[in-house]
Amino acid sequence: MVWIVRMLLLGLLVILSGCDNGPQDHRQTLLVFGTLLDIQAYTDQPELFNEAVMELDKTFQKMHREWHAWKGEGELIRLNRALAEGKSLQVSAELAGLLQRARQYAVDSEQMFNPAIGRLIALWGFHSDQPPGGPPPQKLEIEALLKSNPNMEDLRFQGGLVSSTNPMVAMDLGAFAKGYALNLAIDELKRMGIGNAIVNAGGDLCVSGRHGERPWVIGIRHPLGEGVIASLGVADGECVLTSGNYERYREFEGVRYAHIIDPRSGYPVAHVASATVISHQGGLADAAATALSVAGPVDWPRIAAKMGLTQVMLVDDQGKVYLTPQMQSRISFQQKVDEVVVGAETFD
Ligand code: AMP
Ligand code: MG
Repeated sequence: MVWIVRMLLLGLLVILSGCDNGPQDHRQTLLVFGTLLDIQAYTDQPELFNEAVMELDKTFQKMHREWHAWKGEGELIRLNRALAEGKSLQVSAELAGLLQRARQYAVDSEQMFNPAIGRLIALWGFHSDQPPGGPPPQKLEIEALLKSNPNMEDLRFQGGLVSSTNPMVAMDLGAFAKGYALNLAIDELKRMGIGNAIVNAGGDLCVSGRHGERPWVIGIRHPLGEGVIASLGVADGECVLTSGNYERYREFEGVRYAHIIDPRSGYPVAHVASATVISHQGGLADAAATALSVAGPVDWPRIAAKMGLTQVMLVDDQGKVYLTPQMQSRISFQQKVDEVVVGAETFD
């Protein structure tokens, strides 16, 4: 009799432990924003995770459709058309909020982040899936656009109505919508019950929770060489965004023209290979990574401080690494680098 009870109890234990394997890694990949979005969760609820990813896919596809700068009939393209015609357009509360936030980032970055330069970006051929070959645009064309001085201060907001006092303003959200979207993804996953996750679009990522006993650990790609330049643990709610000159560029007679444009000169950034920013706000980190690439090795500490950032790393075109003390204290270089810690006074 005792023997039978023991067997039954053992059977129950086996069944119970079979039900609860504990959290494990689950992974899904989506194709959004023309890039692969890798979503990884550490969870014991794989079905819930799959459902959440399906929801995210819908959110992302909608953003992609509505905020594309040159494809389709989304609200950004309709807005740009209206602005060019001197008209106003009713936009979604989300887009209006995003534009207002972008205006603030533009001010804080001394206009080095300027998403109103859509025409300049198009002139350089970056409003196409495949940037063109051939010579760069004519200096005169670039100067004409610079003279028209499109910037976020030209925009007017009245409720959801957006207009511009300057018809040369054309919005391009390419420098910060991805960071905003990654942040949103983490929040959405959390809301749906997936609290330990990492959402990664080609090295740009946001994180929630932990990977079991340890934090999520990630690698930052070397912008000039091979492999990973540094690795670090990323805490709950943090985003790590990198702008790189190597990501998209056109080439003519051995010269590379990258997709990050200096709004002051109208020409692509040349002396920064990458800028990496860590922040709890993905959109800010993304905008800042672009702005700091423009700012370059001398001016970046001032712009980073103005944007309220303390965790920044810049790699110049010679491979020299500049970083804030806060960044240095948390990353481990995976390769030998020539590093300079900057701004101990600025970034207390
Ligand atoms: P990111 O990879 O985040 O640096 O974003 C680069 C993209 O942002 C480019 O492909 C352009 O669409 C746009 N862009 C380029 N230069 C700037 C700039 N100075 N300010 C705002 N957006 C820019
Ligand atoms: Mg950016």
